[in-house]
Amino acid sequence: MGRRMHGERRAAGPLLATGVLLTGLLVTVLAVGGLRAAQQDKAERVMDQRHAMALAAVQTEIARYRALLETLAAGAATQDELTWDDFDAASAPLDDAKLIGAAAVAYVAPVRTGDLAAAQRRWRERGAAGLTLHASSGRDEHYFAVFVRPLTGSEGTVGGTDLAGAAELTAALDESRRIHATAVSDTYVLLRDRRKPVSAQQQSFVFAAPIWTRANTPEFKGWMVLGLRGRSFVSGVIDTISQGQLSGTLIATGSDGREVTIADRSVPGEPDLVRQSRFVVGDRQWTLVTRADIGRLPGAGGQAPGLVLGGGALLSGLLAGLVQVLATGRARARAQVEVATRELREAEAASRRQAGVLAAVLDTIGDGVTVVDETGHMLVENPAGKRLMGTTVSNHHPEEWQQHYGVYRPDGRTPMPVGEMPLIRALRGESSDGVELVIRNAVRPEGVLISVDGRPLDPSAGLPGAVVVFRDITELRRYETDLQVFAGVVAHDLKAPLALTRGHAEVALDELPPDHPVRERIARIVQSTDRMDDMIETLLAYTTARDAPLKLAPVDLGALVRDVIDERVAHREATWSIGPLPWVRADAGMLRHLLDNLVGNAFKYVRPGAIPSVEVVAAPAPEGWARIEVADTGIGIPDADKSRIFETFHRTEEAAGYAGTGLGLAICRRIVERHGGEIGVADNPGGGTRFHFTLEEAPMPDDDEQERVQKALERALAERAAILEAARLPGLGFPGIEPQPAEDQPARAPRQERQRQD
Ligand code: ADP
Repeated sequence: MGRRMHGERRAAGPLLATGVLLTGLLVTVLAVGGLRAAQQDKAERVMDQRHAMALAAVQTEIARYRALLETLAAGAATQDELTWDDFDAASAPLDDAKLIGAAAVAYVAPVRTGDLAAAQRRWRERGAAGLTLHASSGRDEHYFAVFVRPLTGSEGTVGGTDLAGAAELTAALDESRRIHATAVSDTYVLLRDRRKPVSAQQQSFVFAAPIWTRANTPEFKGWMVLGLRGRSFVSGVIDTISQGQLSGTLIATGSDGREVTIADRSVPGEPDLVRQSRFVVGDRQWTLVTRADIGRLPGAGGQAPGLVLGGGALLSGLLAGLVQVLATGRARARAQVEVATRELREAEAASRRQAGVLAAVLDTIGDGVTVVDETGHMLVENPAGKRLMGTTVSNHHPEEWQQHYGVYRPDGRTPMPVGEMPLIRALRGESSDGVELVIRNAVRPEGVLISVDGRPLDPSAGLPGAVVVFRDITELRRYETDLQVFAGVVAHDLKAPLALTRGHAEVALDELPPDHPVRERIARIVQSTDRMDDMIETLLAYTTARDAPLKLAPVDLGALVRDVIDERVAHREATWSIGPLPWVRADAGMLRHLLDNLVGNAFKYVRPGAIPSVEVVAAPAPEGWARIEVADTGIGIPDADKSRIFETFHRTEEAAGYAGTGLGLAICRRIVERHGGEIGVADNPGGGTRFHFTLEEAPMPDDDEQERVQKALERALAERAAILEAARLPGLGFPGIEPQPAEDQPARAPRQERQRQD
């Protein structure tokens, strides 16, 4: 049901939008139709005006030509003896009158056949220089243009030509003489144009005005004749009034009643408006037809309907789009809210599930977890935590935690300072790992040794605070201790029979004659016991490196390295170099072990027959730290092994032929890390291996101090065996208990050197 309503709502938007679009388009189409009709109307009116203007222009021009011609004729009528100068003066203004299409104006005189010679002489005398009359035969009377003023585009002359050759002209002349008024000819090609190429010839016509004297009995003198070229006339007049937007055709009805097109002027475009008017010129009917393209007629509208159509369609589209957006917007918003609500519900369920899982985990795990806010207020304390802390009531005041929970250092006696507690350190922003402390209170009177990891609360928790995770390591430590005791005892118990075996073997060697065949076997027994003793030593050293307490003091690293190398090269051929080395703060015995291991490996892992070499130098290190590099030119360590050789018992394939336990570098790492430094390995650029380690730098002591330190060093070195020995004893590494000095330990250093040389 809900979904159907939803679907209906969704459909309403597009429907409404389509309705708006259709209505918009309909209105636009109607508007365009109306506009077109109005425009057509307007165009018709404009066309009417233009046509009227064209008609008026044609008629006015013709009337003007006639008027000018008749003025000329009237002037000529007043002269008894018309000379060229008179004609010239009278017709000169025509040059400036801009008579469109006018070819020439002439004074035409009738001459009888018998009078030809006298007339020629007479007109020559009056100024028609070089006039030679050529009468055409077959007529009594001939018409000659004796004075001619060419107007636009007229070069040739027709002086002397008998005009009777042009029937249309002759007819007009006769007509005008007969009616005593201006007559217009039928169209024909002007005599003066007949020598032009046919394409340049135009249908033309002439106006002829008769010249009658004003005497009581008027005497006929001749004609003033004006020739007009039809095409030039029509184009000129129509172009002037319509600026090229109007086409026009001028049609004359001839004396025989036939219609002849004088000129036809066409402009580009599709003429859809046509007008036609008839008018009278002289005694002739002329017709002017004008045509125009509605789109090109200025003031007729043109592009407007197209623009309205485009604009209207666009607006309708926009409006429909708007309606669609508005109509569907609500539905969309509602759908979005539904989706968001669903997501929120899912997220809430998921986080509730997660919180449930987290709570279950916290309830189930054996590790204690405690979370506090920045004031120390307990936010989370899981059951394991409560059990381990042995109290049921939480205390919110960190100053009272020590007493409330009974927190002690690992010795089980010294109260733990509040500032050192992992939770407080974490509140200060410090992380801590494996901090060991003892909890002893009324509920846990026997005391529990716990290991605590502390961290500042992750920012994702949303509030500042700290978290600690802690576990009971009492049992673990007891087990480790037992194991160590066991290892110590085993080592101790093994070493004694081993020493005995070796002693007896040495005595036997001494007693046997030098060439006795059994000597070699006994020498092997000595070697094997030495190797076994070496292994036991290494295992003990491994334990010592982890558990023996550090006796930190300034150590002259240079002296120590020299001592180590001296011992190492005593019985072998080798080269070495020692750079200037700083003083460091370290446990001298352990540091010696570290250097001895690295130098020993440098001398051991060389190709057979090659002379071993070692270089020990100081390299740049961060402020307050020394970086020592121990480099050799030996067999090198493949890249794949570099990260693993510090693990216990890892040996490279290349080392297969060399004696070793795979524990030396693991011990080195323990020693360096217990000093707070780091150890690593890289290829030696010249071939071989380059180990490095870092130690805290110590200021070089003054002379007295140096002496004291030197003595301490010697003491420390002498005690080396004793320190190693201490590791074998029960109780080592147990919280709060210092290792016991060993008394019954044979000096092993020389023997160890012997073993190293194999
Ligand atoms: P061990 O020498 O007893 O095998 P180490 O822990 O001292 O054990 O060394 C681990 C392994 O690292 C060696 O077995 C050897 O493969 C490789 N190694 C250590 N030092 C060098 C060295 N200077 N040159 C080449 N390989 C070395």
